[in-house]
Amino acid sequence: MLELDAAETLRPPSTEEVERSGSRGPSAAARAATPLPSGPAGATRGRRRESFPVGPASLAFKRRFFPEASRAEWDDWRWQARNRLRSLAQLERVFALSEDEREAIRRHQGALPVGITPYYAALMGLDDPSEPLRRTHVPVGAEYLRSPGEADDPLGEDEHAPVPGLVHRYPDRVLFLATAFCSTYCRYCTRSRLVGEVGGDYHFAYAQWEKALAYIEATPAVRDVLISGGDPLTLGDDKLDWLLGRLKAIRHVEFVRIGSKVPVVLPQRITRGLIAVLRRHRPIWMSLHFTHPKELTPETREACDRLADAGVPLGSQTVLLKGVNDDAAVLRALFHGLLRLRVRPYYLFQCDPITGSAHFRTPVEKGLEIIRALRGHTSGYAVPTYVIDTPGGGGKVPLSPDYVVGRDGDDLLLRNFEGKLYRYRDPGGRVGRAVGQGSAVPC
Ligand code: SF4
Repeated sequence: MLELDAAETLRPPSTEEVERSGSRGPSAAARAATPLPSGPAGATRGRRRESFPVGPASLAFKRRFFPEASRAEWDDWRWQARNRLRSLAQLERVFALSEDEREAIRRHQGALPVGITPYYAALMGLDDPSEPLRRTHVPVGAEYLRSPGEADDPLGEDEHAPVPGLVHRYPDRVLFLATAFCSTYCRYCTRSRLVGEVGGDYHFAYAQWEKALAYIEATPAVRDVLISGGDPLTLGDDKLDWLLGRLKAIRHVEFVRIGSKVPVVLPQRITRGLIAVLRRHRPIWMSLHFTHPKELTPETREACDRLADAGVPLGSQTVLLKGVNDDAAVLRALFHGLLRLRVRPYYLFQCDPITGSAHFRTPVEKGLEIIRALRGHTSGYAVPTYVIDTPGGGGKVPLSPDYVVGRDGDDLLLRNFEGKLYRYRDPGGRVGRAVGQGSAVPC
């Protein structure tokens, strides 16, 4: 009760300071050049230093591009956020940009700006435009092409928003969009229409949160709230504490999930202070956005360890991306690595038809082929559910390779992961009739 009372007295600032000075301005270039105000200048000084491991990639990158930064600054998530690569000049300093990338960065306006933390840039191929992680964060010209079936809001989230910033698409759960800010911007983002832009149609401020909270309070069917955005872990501890406290105070909200890419791109954000907030509001579940095994660094391991040790169950969400991770060996390495980090591979998403994302999308067969290569060949815990989030707000539809071959009388005919046929006695069953129509398949 005391916790709830304390939370009630807290008020998040009326606007988000980080967004306010990070994104406003007449052009993308101007925005990109604006330094992040995530803390006062020199904020690292005077705060108790919280050490974080530094992997070999980070160390080499820091020495080369940020030699003046102290180790304390590099380990500080606010320093990382302030020093994100955003402008063409900042990107040119680090990457050998192709003409296509350079032109795409120059052309950019509006939402989904460029933003890459120094930590995450250190994992990218600086001289190779085809390197997987770089492809996910440095724009190319194909981003400006609209292919058939693509839309700015393909999942129809805005149509399913009873109040701004709250999507109610499934009966017992809601999506709470808490911020438009991300520490890095993925070029295939489902919410590319809104992330990274303040002053547009979305206003992630206190008044909007209050309306969303009022809707949840008035809707007893809602037992599960997914906080997303943008990335909610880019909010300060006080705001997150306030929001989680308010949600916890709603009787029918049984649990809260947070969707985040922060442990992957800004692991230093998982501070002891944040952990204390998450502990205070248990149960909190977390879905982490991983893409590639290159992300399995000592820093990310530390972040996941801290979360798991705090009792936060961790699952991963991965978007299947052409030329990035559309390979069974790559995803097997990622999923095995995640299990070692105590993160359960949860969803493998077919890339949503966002405007300008065709160059990332694989045929659906590719996803099924990858699941077939994993299922039975490795631990079931390492095999996520492959889903298509259906356009128009139909929700997620799971897809699986078909292991039912047909039916022979009371026998269901199944093919196992090795391609061998088996019979399973299933008297009176109907499954498989349409496939085998009673044909006798030799087993
Ligand atoms: S971190 Fe998530 S919300 Fe942010 S740009 Fe990437 S996919 Fe979009």
